[in-house]
Amino acid sequence: MIDKTASNAGTSSEMERQWHFLPSVPIRSSPFFSWPPEPIRMVRWVAVRWFTIAENTILVSLAVACWLWVQPSMNEARTLQIGWIAEIWLRNMVLMIVVAGGLHLYFHVWRKQKQELKFDPREMLSKSKIFTFNSQLWDNVFWTLASGVTCWTAYEALMFWAMANGLAPMLSWQNNPVWFVIILFLTPMWISFHFYWIHRALHWPPLYRLAHSLHHRNTNVGPWSGISMHPVETAVFFSSILIHFIVPAHTIHILFHMQHQALTGATSHTGFEGLLVKDRNRLHLGNFHHQLHHRYFECNYGNPEVPWDKVFGSFHDGTDESHAKFKERRKRLIGA
Ligand SMILES: [Zn+2]
Ligand SMILES: [Zn+2]
Repeated sequence: MIDKTASNAGTSSEMERQWHFLPSVPIRSSPFFSWPPEPIRMVRWVAVRWFTIAENTILVSLAVACWLWVQPSMNEARTLQIGWIAEIWLRNMVLMIVVAGGLHLYFHVWRKQKQELKFDPREMLSKSKIFTFNSQLWDNVFWTLASGVTCWTAYEALMFWAMANGLAPMLSWQNNPVWFVIILFLTPMWISFHFYWIHRALHWPPLYRLAHSLHHRNTNVGPWSGISMHPVETAVFFSSILIHFIVPAHTIHILFHMQHQALTGATSHTGFEGLLVKDRNRLHLGNFHHQLHHRYFECNYGNPEVPWDKVFGSFHDGTDESHAKFKERRKRLIGA
């Protein structure tokens, strides 16, 4: 049986009052960046993320399946033509609708888990003037598909075209099996590193007003909120892929990288810690780290893969102590 309210024992704290489900806190970042080294936690961190049914393993399988069955050939990709680009756009639309739509139906329409492992007790807003079409859901669906999926497709097309024309270096499984695997493992870390910095930039007031405020309309998130972003934000968000103009990659790496960014946007914004099967958390989805960012704004710009928030003092670890620190800081800023 899942420990539903890990820290609900004893007297209730401020964070417990603010959240319906509070996971075990403090939130812990990747052990690969902690000192002294914690070898056991490192092994566990990798095992849980890569050798069980977890997001990364599902996403690698998905990238391989797409490469095998629904990927234009390098020959086709040599010229920028509407045919193959439309094919990958359609593929990406289907992937996003299946993942975000499926999770939305499961958690928010059919309410299969009711409130179990749900961070915020409130429902998403059905009617509100702050959203396009006056609806949080349709606002999120529109921006995800129109801006998010289009930009995702544009970057994929750019990379495949560049690789086909020798403008971006390629790597093959036969010649470099070790690098092939290492790059897969490093991809989520690179995405995390890049995300922290672009996300901080997006909170710079002019950029926030222009672009990022659209994503932050969602204080209480759902799967469609993940890449519900202004086109300027999607352009910088997906730009992490440009590293493969320097670092050699296989088509599978490009697919994994882009699908990881786009689809974990949906899974990390479900509003739930995980997917329960027979009362056990079978698939870890939740991202309390990012959920805190949506509620409190000035914390947790990155994610637990690379602890930049810890380094730069913006880490809210979900505890009352952390919360008091942020409240105090906000008071000082307002008072200043
Ligand atoms: Zn933000
Ligand atoms: Zn978000």
